[in-house]
Amino acid sequence: MSQTSSPLSTWAKNIAPSPTLAVDAKAKALKAAGKDVCGFGAGEPDFDTPAFIKEACAKALNEGQTKYTPTPGIPALRKAIAEYYNGRGFSVTEGQVVVSPGGKMSCYLTILATVSPGDEVIIPAPYWVSYPEMVKLAGGVPKFIAAEDSTGFKITPEQLKAAITPKTKLLILNSPSNPTGALYSEAELRAIVDVAIKAGLLIMSDEIYEHLIYDGQKGCSPATFSKEASERVITVSGFAKTYSMTGWRMGTLVATKEIATAVADLQSQTTSNVTSFAQYGALAVYQHIDKARAALTEMLTHFDRRRLKLYDGLNAIPGISCYRSQGAFYLFPNIKSFGLSSNEFCARLLEDELVAAVPGSAFGAEGYIRLSYATADATIEKGLVRIANFCSKLKK
Ligand code: GLU
Repeated sequence: MSQTSSPLSTWAKNIAPSPTLAVDAKAKALKAAGKDVCGFGAGEPDFDTPAFIKEACAKALNEGQTKYTPTPGIPALRKAIAEYYNGRGFSVTEGQVVVSPGGKMSCYLTILATVSPGDEVIIPAPYWVSYPEMVKLAGGVPKFIAAEDSTGFKITPEQLKAAITPKTKLLILNSPSNPTGALYSEAELRAIVDVAIKAGLLIMSDEIYEHLIYDGQKGCSPATFSKEASERVITVSGFAKTYSMTGWRMGTLVATKEIATAVADLQSQTTSNVTSFAQYGALAVYQHIDKARAALTEMLTHFDRRRLKLYDGLNAIPGISCYRSQGAFYLFPNIKSFGLSSNEFCARLLEDELVAAVPGSAFGAEGYIRLSYATADATIEKGLVRIANFCSKLKK
């Protein structure tokens, strides 16, 4: 290495750190320093992982399940995941399932397995912060389709058609969405998937929030729409958001055997397997489905109450208008009337009122901020008072 050359690669120099994790780290550091911060930053449930999952993990650890496992996951877990999907209208075998260290890794490996340098990847905006960076790490080119709150943050088949070029390889879908909480209806998704399949695209359907849906609505999986769809859609999910297991790093992927094998090969050369005993904790979800359902129902009740509290509170603040999300645990209020960039709005909100939120610019949507309501009711109540106070000062 010459003295003047940088120690960093092109990839390292160009990568932006995750803004959601950065805001969360800042809020946690302020809290640790004794500041009374209201954290609406990272999408991390405030509940503990259900006891029966932790017990299964601890049992496996104590029984010596501490060695390498097969790269794509322990057979019992892959089988249980395949059965779960088959119960939802899929038709897959365990050989089409890969368990990875976190839904994030499942997404990244999907992109690495399907996108070659120069390939274009269509990403509807607002998008989750990591998709464009992952595409760039694979040498791909992210192409965005913008949606606003006026259209419920959803793209149309016509917009998709117009964005497709001969270089397009992959479309990323995420319903319910992070950061908006928007949920596509089955008819809306079918129309979009139709366009993508006719154009020969692959689709990564990130369904990490599949169980967090409100207002009596239902989600659906594009892979179940048709035989072609089952061959073109890679379905990604995980345990983090549903069972409050963010730190466990437990993601899942279901795809054709060809793509699942490629993902497993990439994983075998990079992270090997997911932590052995953690996989037994995840397996308990399927072995004790009644307990899992009860835990989820309980958490959903709390999320729903908090969603409506935050939604009503935000819409009551002059200058803010907020779309009513139907899924995940985020609200994405419009702050355009204040005339500040979302970065400045969030920086000042944290500095003046100790409220942590993520700027919309991080999600490719200027003029909005993201608030996670996966936090205590008391934090939401206190945070709303502070946001109202902040906004009233901006309006003066
Ligand atoms: N996915 C969560 C969020 O958007 C956790 C942080 C991250 O991985 O981005 O807040």
